[in-house]
Amino acid sequence: MSELCSDCGCVKGQLHEIFCTNERCPFCNNQLVSCGCISEILSLNSEEQLALDEYIDDEAEPLKSINERWVKALAQKGRRPF
Ligand SMILES: [Zn+2]
Ligand SMILES: [Zn+2]
Repeated sequence: MSELCSDCGCVKGQLHEIFCTNERCPFCNNQLVSCGCISEILSLNSEEQLALDEYIDDEAEPLKSINERWVKALAQKGRRPF
């Protein structure tokens, strides 16, 4: 019997689906989707920060590339498995 993440359904010890609400931030150890590390780590400018706050469409720029940069930064730091 294996434990599954209640949100993304990944198995214990595996990485969550990216932006799963149960994933911990490797920078601050808080909930990844709600912590503020993205702004600091990526040094977002005010325009990018505004786009992130409004979060209208992550398939469109600038959100798309902000998310890509964030995923890269997380992978470099080492994402936290479930
Ligand atoms: Zn998960
Ligand atoms: Zn964080």
